[in-house]
Amino acid sequence: LASREAHPESSVIDVSGVKIGGGNLGMIAGPCSVEDRDRMMRIAESVCQSGANVFRGGAYKPRTSPYAFQGLGEEGLKILREVGDRFGMPVVTEVTDPRNVELVSQYADMLQVGARNMQNFVLLTEVGKSRRPVLLKRGMSATIADLLMSAEYILSEGNSNVVLCERGVKGFDPATRNLFDVAAVPVVQGLTHLPIIVDPSHATGRPDLIPPCALAGLAAGADGVHIEVHDCPEEAKSDGPQALLPEQYKQISHQMRLMADLL
Ligand code: PEP
Ligand code: MN
Repeated sequence: LASREAHPESSVIDVSGVKIGGGNLGMIAGPCSVEDRDRMMRIAESVCQSGANVFRGGAYKPRTSPYAFQGLGEEGLKILREVGDRFGMPVVTEVTDPRNVELVSQYADMLQVGARNMQNFVLLTEVGKSRRPVLLKRGMSATIADLLMSAEYILSEGNSNVVLCERGVKGFDPATRNLFDVAAVPVVQGLTHLPIIVDPSHATGRPDLIPPCALAGLAAGADGVHIEVHDCPEEAKSDGPQALLPEQYKQISHQMRLMADLL
């Protein structure tokens, strides 16, 4: 179902009115974790003014350590919904547990399946039964074929609204958090009609590398860019070291628009 051969025309995914794919760019921005309401309002207002069209934030965080911040749960979903409505932006948030798909779907416009859960087949089946669009992130050790098969799990349940995301794969060099596989963008586009966006935040883990990799992703033909933004990275509950400041997002957002106009 995901194959380009069977469906030559590029799919356009509608996320509560925001289109992604077929020349429409999904500009997803927001903090890694949903935090307190006032902070979320501030960050959302700034990224919205800078041109982001989907707001993000995790309420259920898949953390390496069980002692690290796990997210605000349903309270976080409520905050995210309120902030999204306030600025007229659809919201995307991660669902980590098949038992929570219905709950998260009540608040979110788009369900994120994170890298760590790309091959959680029970979760994929469950989001496939939901009617919400899905942002499916490539696993850190997953091949492109694996990613497309995971998308197939969702499509085969009847949910055809899937956006893929290249967020870096495990490399050998600790200079960057992951290895940004920019070639995956045109490879994926050759194989599937589904849109693919890039996430230079998790791919590099370094704010200084996000702008060049965001532009590289667009130059490679990506259908959008996902960037983590925080107004006080030192205080962020997760992924602070890789967050862009709102002012930095504004700058790269401008450059991304220029790049998109060139293409
Ligand atoms: C995230 O988007 O905050 C996240 C955990 O991403 P990934 O699953 O790509 O690591
Ligand atoms: Mn993150």
